[in-house]
Amino acid sequence: MQFIISHWEKSNSARCGVIKTHHGEIQTPVFMPIGTQGAVKTIDPEVLSHLHTQIILGNTYHLYLRPGHELIHKAGSLHAFMNWKKSILTDSGGFQVFSLAQLNKISDEGVAFQSHLDGSRHFFTPELSMEIQRHLGADIIMAFDECPAAKSDQASVEKAVERTTLWIDQCHNYLNNQAPLYDWEQTLFPIVQGSIYKRMRKRSVEALIPYADCGIAIGGLAVGEEKKSMFETVDQMDELLPQDQPRYLMGVGRPTDLVKSVSSGMDMFDCVLPTRNARNGQMFTSQGIINIENNRYKDEFGTLDPECNCYTCQNFSCAYLRHLFNIKEVLGMRLATIHNLTYYMTLMEKIRSTIAAGDFISWSKNYLGEMSAHKGM
Ligand SMILES: [Zn+2]
Repeated sequence: MQFIISHWEKSNSARCGVIKTHHGEIQTPVFMPIGTQGAVKTIDPEVLSHLHTQIILGNTYHLYLRPGHELIHKAGSLHAFMNWKKSILTDSGGFQVFSLAQLNKISDEGVAFQSHLDGSRHFFTPELSMEIQRHLGADIIMAFDECPAAKSDQASVEKAVERTTLWIDQCHNYLNNQAPLYDWEQTLFPIVQGSIYKRMRKRSVEALIPYADCGIAIGGLAVGEEKKSMFETVDQMDELLPQDQPRYLMGVGRPTDLVKSVSSGMDMFDCVLPTRNARNGQMFTSQGIINIENNRYKDEFGTLDPECNCYTCQNFSCAYLRHLFNIKEVLGMRLATIHNLTYYMTLMEKIRSTIAAGDFISWSKNYLGEMSAHKGM
């Protein structure tokens, strides 16, 4: 994998560039839609491509439970199984084990948990996480880490940093000792932990840098901490992380979070918001967040967002979308997802083009000013 930076903003850390994987070029900064269980919910790969999606994210925990990584390998990789020809990043499974499964026990050896589906017992080790992601065929593999809950005390965060450090070595060694399963490179991204504690973040960065070949992730943010603390940590990461590698800010975020984080030198993002909120009738628009189920859209025959060029906005009225949500028609969720992903993808394109043109600072100032009037943007 290669990362080439093409433009730097002069007075902050924003940059744009390209990540090259076997499955194509990824223009950065990039937003990665979530395809939890081998599907970006309601959207097929052809439409995803039309929306200029360059890379999607798959979830190790879910795919391990169903349909199983061996089956996906038998299908010829996750790309082949779901017919997605571009890049895929898989998470380590750790975050879901902590948040979804019934957690039984965490130790230096790994995490024992019970499936949220049927209560069956499993044990994730760093090696097993690597083995699953290797079989899935991900272009980017995330290290197995411990992500402490927001507002964890210092001692728990310190332990999580220690375990993450211990585990990165195991992940790295395991991958290095396996023969390739596919004819493409699978790049390991370490994940910096340390919550909002500067000293521990620094320690985590120092311990992980030797394992970062082309890319490093920042975990443990956007999990419920104060926004101010999150951005202070992002700024600290901007100072400490290598500049020549892509920086992946995990789980972020809202549109304004993306713009601010790009200003602090972040390159990759993922978040459930555009897709999950769409399925709940919440749309991101140039006029703020719209809840399409609101009664005021009952006979609104105009479109969702006059500034949007998506299929939904070009062809359907608010009243029709509201009707679809009202009768719980899956088409409503699909049209809403198309719109929200278009909002995010268009925003990222704007970010990239303004960085390349040298006017990201003035554009972002304007955008953040406009959006400050809209709650949740
Ligand atoms: Zn639209």
